[in-house]
Amino acid sequence: MVDPVSAIKGISESVGKVSDIVKKYNDLPLMEEIIELKTKVFSLQEELLSAKMQLAQREVMRIDGPFGYCFKAGDDKPYCPTCWQGGGKEVNLPPPDNYAGGYGRVCRVCKQLYVERKTTLRAQVPPASPWS
Ligand SMILES: [Zn+2]
Repeated sequence: MVDPVSAIKGISESVGKVSDIVKKYNDLPLMEEIIELKTKVFSLQEELLSAKMQLAQREVMRIDGPFGYCFKAGDDKPYCPTCWQGGGKEVNLPPPDNYAGGYGRVCRVCKQLYVERKTTLRAQVPPASPWS
């Protein structure tokens, strides 16, 4: 696959060569066309570069939140940090559910349980504070 950035660079170089040739003929309308073409190629290049930067930013995975899940920029779905750190695999974690080890998410690939809340059969009784 041709890298679009180097492809546009090549076009820009070709346009430069053509404009050098046209200069010799002193053809003003043609020269104006070439300048317009140069401007268009340049803005296309700028656009492509910013799109590439956005894409690169989106692909960055970060570990965030109280449970240490992986997140992509602009994406609030959690990814399995074990799969990501182990082999760069992007594995979406399913919604949390009740498991034997607690309420949380189990990665479908590495089967790791991420406990978001400990579940106990007894009702939670807050410890009595000696100060109250
Ligand atoms: Zn996993």
